[in-house]
Amino acid sequence: MSRESILLYRQLPPAQRERLLQEHEVIEVYGRDAAGREAFLAALPKVAGLIGSGLKIEPAMLDQAPHLKVISSVSVGVDHYPLAAMHERDIVLCHTPDVLTDSVADLVFGMVLATSRRLVEMAQLVRDGQWRRSLESDQYGWDVHGKTLGILGYGRIGQALARRAALGFGMPVIYHSRHPVGSGLPSSAKVSGGSLGDVLERSDFVVVMVPLTAQTRGMLGAEAFARMKPGAILINAARGPIVQESALLEALDSGHLRAAGLDVFDIEPLPLDSRLRDHPRILALPHMGSATHETRTAMADMAVSNLLSVLRGDPALATYPTA
Ligand code: NAP
Repeated sequence: MSRESILLYRQLPPAQRERLLQEHEVIEVYGRDAAGREAFLAALPKVAGLIGSGLKIEPAMLDQAPHLKVISSVSVGVDHYPLAAMHERDIVLCHTPDVLTDSVADLVFGMVLATSRRLVEMAQLVRDGQWRRSLESDQYGWDVHGKTLGILGYGRIGQALARRAALGFGMPVIYHSRHPVGSGLPSSAKVSGGSLGDVLERSDFVVVMVPLTAQTRGMLGAEAFARMKPGAILINAARGPIVQESALLEALDSGHLRAAGLDVFDIEPLPLDSRLRDHPRILALPHMGSATHETRTAMADMAVSNLLSVLRGDPALATYPTA
């Protein structure tokens, strides 16, 4: 097996970086500024593999990488990769499903609790020294247990979320998927499938867990928000562009939606002048669904294994179909 050149464009824990160095020459480019972009482009003609995340890979970049055999994404979502262009060039795409599922589901459930029970706002009250007497009714939150949770996209994370909600919090769950899929939960759990309209109209919480694709881009706009129950809460932990941000702001400002929890945005990091950043009804998080020590290490490990396997000519742990 020959040593190849690899372009690493996201920091990995030392043990995973070392595994790459043992088998290949590693060019490391972490900057996302103009100099970083220039270094990334300059490395492309040499490399057989890319490993990283958080950078949109354009078809034109592939034109500059004639030896590229594999892109190993340190993520489950693959919306940053030009699938058709990779297919044309026989470039394998690998990703990291499963190892992050439970951490993301935990975070989403945390967002459900935080928005409905107003955790951040109430913690800020204490921190600001404004807790001077018992809370008044205008400061109360709303129960989570027993409320209906709607899930758009009933894949790995959607199902892990349903388990938490139905089995842990006694919540009826209604999910929408493109293809028929069973609930995966005991029949005692109140979990059922429905149309997009059913989920929007019947849920107290609507959680977006579909991937970003041509079909889901802009899927939730003014019309969808109008169909949601008055006082419902929207959670998006999938990808920003699935939700039309200006329509969401209108639905919150009008009081129709109670709150939104957002871990993902159209532009990341969120620009300082974005109204989503400090809107009183929005819990905005820094794309942290999988950001635990355990899960980020497992993702790095899997992404490195994927890349090394493909370059050795072995099957990867998880490839994503590009055709
Ligand atoms: P997954 O197992 O592939 O689940 C996605 C589900 O959405 C699949 O069941 C898919 O069904 C369904 N779907 C696709 N298009 C749909 C549509 N138009 N309408 C209804 N359902 C549709 O993926 P996952 O591991 O659960 O991850 C889901 C997404 O979460 C990722 O793509 C990523 O964008 C996001 N994510 C975010 C974070 C974070 O840090 N916030 C972390 C991890 C993942 P089909 O079989 O029909 O395609």
